[in-house]
Amino acid sequence: MKKIGIIDSCVETPEELILSGGFIPYRLFGDSSLSPLKADEHLPPTHCVWARNILEQGLQGLPDDIMGIVSTHGCDCMNRQFDIWLDSVDMEFMYFLNSPLKRNAAAKKFFIQDMKELIRQIEEHYNVKITDEKIRENIQLMNKIRALLKEISEFRTKMKIKYSELHELIKKVQTIDKQEALNILEEKLKDVKSRPSIKENELKNILLTGSGLDDTDFIMNLENAGFHIVIDDLCIGTHYFWEQADEGADPLESIANYHFKKPIYSAKVPSHQRYNFIEQLIDTYEVKGVINLAEKFCESILYDHPFMNKKLKEKGVPYLFLEKEYNTEAYKQLSTRFDAFYEII
Ligand code: SF4
Repeated sequence: MKKIGIIDSCVETPEELILSGGFIPYRLFGDSSLSPLKADEHLPPTHCVWARNILEQGLQGLPDDIMGIVSTHGCDCMNRQFDIWLDSVDMEFMYFLNSPLKRNAAAKKFFIQDMKELIRQIEEHYNVKITDEKIRENIQLMNKIRALLKEISEFRTKMKIKYSELHELIKKVQTIDKQEALNILEEKLKDVKSRPSIKENELKNILLTGSGLDDTDFIMNLENAGFHIVIDDLCIGTHYFWEQADEGADPLESIANYHFKKPIYSAKVPSHQRYNFIEQLIDTYEVKGVINLAEKFCESILYDHPFMNKKLKEKGVPYLFLEKEYNTEAYKQLSTRFDAFYEII
């Protein structure tokens, strides 16, 4: 089956619409082994390292089975970068989906209008028909996937799965046929239920938040430093499966409502609500410390950091903020910061 690539700095792309057009939604992830030489020709040195990495992949050429791109409104950096994609990346179909900045009635109307335009353009370009019935079926499919991921994620509290394994799984779900994903998740749930708990007494329970953080090697580094990421506030994590869409409502209304009620990302407004979700998770999952990790030059997370620092200090929860480069070699430099944080929680 052909794929449509997704560029998304949050997780706001309605995969249901792409599925209903007969395509596999294929989310683009960073590649920490890549040197962004071509992207450097287009971007200033202070541009986010993750966004730069994704652009490099586009400029070098995406796999042949990716037939088009949907880039969804997220942070300013990714939003503006879409102009470079239009100008310099060889792809015949590209659409910028205006997932709104705010979450109110006017924003919902606007989002629904723009989803209608995306449907119209996919139908026209690929000569397919996207019906309400197909969208409804795919809402049900996505709900099943979300429910399974949430159930698997809960086994982190019983030490039966580490976040790195869940992280790989969520990424896989976002790049393969969703029916196949459903089968993999059903098998994984059986497997996780039946396995023994991980016996690592020295692990300390933390909550991980920050930028998109799609590099599983980096997550493994954190775990090797002695942390168990018992819960997260991340797009490749709770933001992808925390809520369900209403299966009975008008399909586009249901998709819009779903995206408006799920945990908010820092690039959206009001971003301070992100802390409310984090506080709820800290209390529910008995979190001992919070690590907030920004990809280098991620303005959304940089702006949030002082507020997060103040609120967590008031709550008495140890907090570590770090910026990271997007390459494996640079990860090693963070190990002393992790060790120091491990000692204080
Ligand atoms: S890491 Fe931050 S700046 Fe970079 S794309 Fe994601 S939200 Fe935008």
